[in-house]
Amino acid sequence: MRKEKVEKRITRKEALSLFQSSDLLELGMKADETRKKLHPEGVVTFVVDRNINYTNVCINKCRFCAFWRDENSPDAYVLGRDLLFNKIEETIELGGTQILLQGGLHPSLDIDYYRELLISIKERFDINIHGFSPPEICYMADSADITVPETLRLLKDAGLDSIPGGGAEILSDRVREILSPKKIRSSRWLEVMENAHMLGMRTTATMMFGSVEKPEDVIIHLDSIRELQDRTGGFTAFIPWSFQPGNTDLGIGDWGLGTGNQKKSKPRPPISKPRFPATAVDYLRILALSRIYLDNVENIQASWVTQGLKMAQVALRFGANDFGSTMIEENVVASTGVSYSVSKEDIIHAIRSAGFKPAQRDTFYNLIHRY
Ligand code: SF4
Repeated sequence: MRKEKVEKRITRKEALSLFQSSDLLELGMKADETRKKLHPEGVVTFVVDRNINYTNVCINKCRFCAFWRDENSPDAYVLGRDLLFNKIEETIELGGTQILLQGGLHPSLDIDYYRELLISIKERFDINIHGFSPPEICYMADSADITVPETLRLLKDAGLDSIPGGGAEILSDRVREILSPKKIRSSRWLEVMENAHMLGMRTTATMMFGSVEKPEDVIIHLDSIRELQDRTGGFTAFIPWSFQPGNTDLGIGDWGLGTGNQKKSKPRPPISKPRFPATAVDYLRILALSRIYLDNVENIQASWVTQGLKMAQVALRFGANDFGSTMIEENVVASTGVSYSVSKEDIIHAIRSAGFKPAQRDTFYNLIHRY
């Protein structure tokens, strides 16, 4: 659905100057005004879902990721079907409407594996499959020697409903070259999303900040999302979250936090990076800027998974109108050592006590229960 522009559009130059020179509360107030125009009723939504990571084997070995393992690592896994089905059953029993199905780029899994996986889930369960971020989709396409649109069509026919915006990090190839040299470049990430939207699939968009990017890179990222959304209207939400250095290659050394798989594997030479992880103020500034710049993306998610519930409450006055998911299970951020445990009731209470009306939604932001 294409959203009308809220008012005169902020330009890249204006956004950069706003980001660099306005104070935190000024940015927050502007973002809150935009949020109010788009969501005047003060409803803050969340989805009940579970992250299911079907494998932790990944050939990309991104420097900011603590989740990947080599195929021959003792703790490498590919989830068996029985365990997967149990997880979905449990999710449905807890009122879940969606699974977020994501994994690493496993060199021994082919397109048939993914198609059969989707078909086997859909045969058994009435649940939305939000799955496979653009790096996974490109890897499937390249391994099968077929195009991205063909791959998306095969996955959609097998039961894939919508696509998560993972793997975007910062859509600037200068930054990607440092963070994840083996990962798809910005243009391919955008190509997957555009093709998915053309097929009628909705997707989200994410941004991981707080590593080696400059303010200009953040603006390029936001502009790429806004430009594509103008053409397709396919993004349901934007989710900025901050780099979590624990146990990652990028975190080892300067921050002294690395103890994970990368240390056991092959440490790579240190690279130039900021001394400290993103602060609460950095998070709120990015969130507010995103709300202001992305006037055509209806929903902005607060990331309690990386920021905690209290910061997510504050985020509701800095442009966010959605709490994301209850995340019955989360493995990727947890592998960096950051783990907040919250229940659905905690989320409802946090939203209400911040002065908003909590509501459970589905993947497509339809309200299914108000509290
Ligand atoms: S971020 Fe994704 S693509 Fe990169 S190493 Fe981790 S699992 Fe692999």
